Amino acid sequence: MTKQAKNREPVVPPKCAGGIIDSHAHVVKEYFQEERELILDRALAMDVHTLINPAVAVEGIEELLELIESRASVYGAAGQHPHEARFWSPEHKEKILRALTHPKMVAVGECGLDYFYNNSSREEQLTAFREQIEIAVALDKPVIVHCRDAWEDTFDLLKSAGQGKVRGVFHCFTGGPEHLDAITALDFYVSFSGILTYNKATNIQEAAALVPQERMLVETDCPFLSPQKVRGERNEPAYVWFTAEKLANLRQTSLETLASQVSSNAGALFRLPARGFK
Ligand SMILES: [Zn+2]
Ligand SMILES: [Zn+2]
Repeated sequence: MTKQAKNREPVVPPKCAGGIIDSHAHVVKEYFQEERELILDRALAMDVHTLINPAVAVEGIEELLELIESRASVYGAAGQHPHEARFWSPEHKEKILRALTHPKMVAVGECGLDYFYNNSSREEQLTAFREQIEIAVALDKPVIVHCRDAWEDTFDLLKSAGQGKVRGVFHCFTGGPEHLDAITALDFYVSFSGILTYNKATNIQEAAALVPQERMLVETDCPFLSPQKVRGERNEPAYVWFTAEKLANLRQTSLETLASQVSSNAGALFRLPARGFK
């Protein structure tokens, strides 16, 4: 429990028996320390039966491989975040390729372009992203795209380097209805994070009501971006239900229907095996 949580009544997320997949969570020790196992147990207790944990840098791959070996509910992805693009090298590419030979490493990413923070130059970001799209095509794995204030370049690169063969997801979607045509044309998925629950996120909410049902996912992107009802707390996979609840409301459907749809979408995108664990 975080400090904030100790000081008030805990907010219990809604859930339903069929469970749900958190399509993007960073359940790494750097953020959760010794509480990590507790948080993973809590996710299972809340029927968050599967989560995808993308690495953001090669330094995190070893820990991630240990995690997916020890936890049936956790799958991984290997990539280099745009913030880290300045460190991109042939050695990094090699490490990512090697990590992706593990059967539970289901995607390339997260990778992409972030022109809001610009922690790496645009040239560095474009190079690292292009080469990771090429890896995704070569290995026939989906790519987990981080896109912040870089829509045109992202679409262009996915088209040119993706050669019509790349598939994937725009994680932590921060766009609006105006971006959906291009995303649909690429046949990509859209994943909604806790941002969807914020009052000011009207543009994202409009898009959420419109995205084709077979193309939507939900995620926490924990430990960041806690949904409104637990804002200020450290985010964790169990809280994906708050975002699912909001998405169900926006789409005027039941939480159960929504959870089942986003989970089967994630299963299709990441080619997850049918659930075979306790
Ligand atoms: Zn991201
Ligand atoms: Zn992330």
